[in-house]
Amino acid sequence: MNLTIENLNKTYSNGVQALKNVSLTINKGMFGLLGQNGAGKSTLMRTIATLQDPDSGTIRFDDIDVGRQPDKLREVLGYLPQEFGVYPTVTATELLMHIADMKGIVNASERKMQVEALLEKVNLWDVRNKKLGGYSGGMKQRFGIAQALLGEPKLIIVDEPTAGLDPMERNRFYNLLSEIGENTVVILSTHIVEDVSTLCSQMAIIGKGEVLLTGTPDDVEAAL
Ligand code: ADP
Ligand code: ADP
Repeated sequence: MNLTIENLNKTYSNGVQALKNVSLTINKGMFGLLGQNGAGKSTLMRTIATLQDPDSGTIRFDDIDVGRQPDKLREVLGYLPQEFGVYPTVTATELLMHIADMKGIVNASERKMQVEALLEKVNLWDVRNKKLGGYSGGMKQRFGIAQALLGEPKLIIVDEPTAGLDPMERNRFYNLLSEIGENTVVILSTHIVEDVSTLCSQMAIIGKGEVLLTGTPDDVEAAL
């Protein structure tokens, strides 16, 4: 499993050059994309997730040409966007069942099985029938991971997932993510160095739209 990004460029209509010749090779495991606010992380994440087109450049995931075959990429993608809003008046079970349906898991018993397994995995089983409006920040993020994992994605993108979590919630979230990284490509964007050093086997530093350094966290630290 491999994501290859080549010479990606994006300039917004206000003239901000958000991506400048970004090239990266990302293999199985947890990959950390570290950069300050405004560095271009969300632009890159949204572009990989096919929510936004680049001006130029290519993205491949295994045999999928992402620019030409966005539908194929979406079939194998799990995405937790930076601003992940939940409908406050539905329960976790209800919303996950609905999302599973939209993701094309048509068989009702298969849907129920996957949803229940995920609720256990993200440690929301006890609150599965509570309305999402009553969830804490950490619970919402764990719900966000559950919805991203529906349908057994091969590529998982999580954009700034630990922003706003307290240390205990952050640790729970780390434990959850580190299990997931074993069999998939996971890209984690963050401005928190500790997220990357705790979780990631590979990383890149992005600044002002450019990849500044890439390698293992140790390589990158040695180069700084
Ligand atoms: P594109 O160049 O891809 O067409 P636009 O520049 O038209 O994108 O902006 C898309 C949307 O994002 C617009 O609604 C715009 O108001 C909004 N937007 C503008 N500046 C920013 C910013 N700095 N951060 C986030 N969104 C912004
Ligand atoms: P990060 O996720 O690292 O904070 P972004 O990708 O959100 O970075 O933003 C990169 C740059 O592009 C910033 O200067 C931001 O203000 C600008 N930007 C982001 N989205 C838009 C948009 N839709 N329209 C115009 N400018 C944008």
